This record gives sequence, C-alpha cells and structure tokens, in this order.
Amino acid sequence: MVTFDKKKSLIYNGGKLNSFIRFRNKELGKIQNKMSKCKKYSNRWKKLNCGKKKLLLKSRNKIMDVLQKYISYLISYCVKNKVFLIVIVDINGIRENISSVGIKVDYQEETYTSQTCLECGKRYKPTNRNYKCQYGFEYHRDSVGAINILKKYTIGTLKDKSDWLEGVLTSPYGVRYDSNSTSCQTDWNSRPFSQVVSV
Ligand SMILES: [Zn+2]
Repeated sequence: MVTFDKKKSLIYNGGKLNSFIRFRNKELGKIQNKMSKCKKYSNRWKKLNCGKKKLLLKSRNKIMDVLQKYISYLISYCVKNKVFLIVIVDINGIRENISSVGIKVDYQEETYTSQTCLECGKRYKPTNRNYKCQYGFEYHRDSVGAINILKKYTIGTLKDKSDWLEGVLTSPYGVRYDSNSTSCQTDWNSRPFSQVVSV
C-alpha cells in the first residue's frame, strides 16, 4: 500500500505480509499433500485436518495484525494531518474501517496512473519498483501511481499541471510493520528517489 497527501508519499512495506502468506501457502501445501495420501476421516487424516485448521487460524491472525496496524497507522496519520478524504483504487475492507472514523472514502480508477511520468506526461512501463522516464525523472513506481491517482481525482487528467506538485518531491517514507509493537515505525526510505519535479 502506498499513499500520497500532496506533501509526502508513504510506502507501507509489504515484505512481512508476503512472507506470512508464502509461509502459509507452503505449509498448507505440505499438509494437503499428506492428507491426499491417507484415507478420508481416518485418525491420521483427522490429525492433519486439525493441524490445517490451526495453521489457517494462526496465519489469519498474523496477516490481520499487519493489516490492522497499517490501517490504524493510516487513520492516525490522517487525523494528525487533517486529511478528511481518502481516494482509493481498490483496497478491500478499508472503506469500512476509515468511514467509521469520519473520513470520507472515494474511488478513482487507475488507468495509466503507474505509467505516466510526473514530469513530462509521457508514458513508460516500469519493469521494477523504480520508475525511470527516458527524460530523466526517477521515483518509486508506486508513489508515482499514488500521486497520479490524486492528480486524476482532483484535476481529471494526468497531462495537466497541478500547483501542489511544484518544487521538490521528497523521498518516500517507509512504514514498517513490527509484530512486537502496537504501532508502526516510519523511517526514511534509503533508496535514492529524491528528485526535483517541475510539473
Ligand atoms: Zn518524463
């Protein structure tokens, strides 16, 4: 998940979430493979089925913990920075969470938002997380997407200039999940995406 609020882009690190999901899928595959080799409803089958249920529950709790911490971080960020409207592309479940604290949620379709250069308006398809236009503009791909979604929502086009995108675009911040903490940590993203933008 990546956000932009006319000043700052926040990148919510998905590494832990992905590794929880990968681990769950791998273990689930192992159990299901073993289950397929024994007779249905036999003692061994029942034992494996019980293990499967435990795995799914534990994984679900871990995944929900990441999502809940990220969403609560986002909500407190909005409250602190007086953000009253969130424009989203597609995040299941987030609408209910955010609407409940009085922040309006609206939808914006995302065609070309992660491809259009913030500087020259030309299209380029990034092959990794680094968006790099042939004319030199460079930034985090998903932050480009987030900025363009706001642009599309506020001025209706990706081509025109927007006054809030003048001057220096700061490096995105990273938001990191911490399983031991009740909240998330924000730190400077060390990757070199700092770039002067004059759209
Ligand atoms: Zn460009």
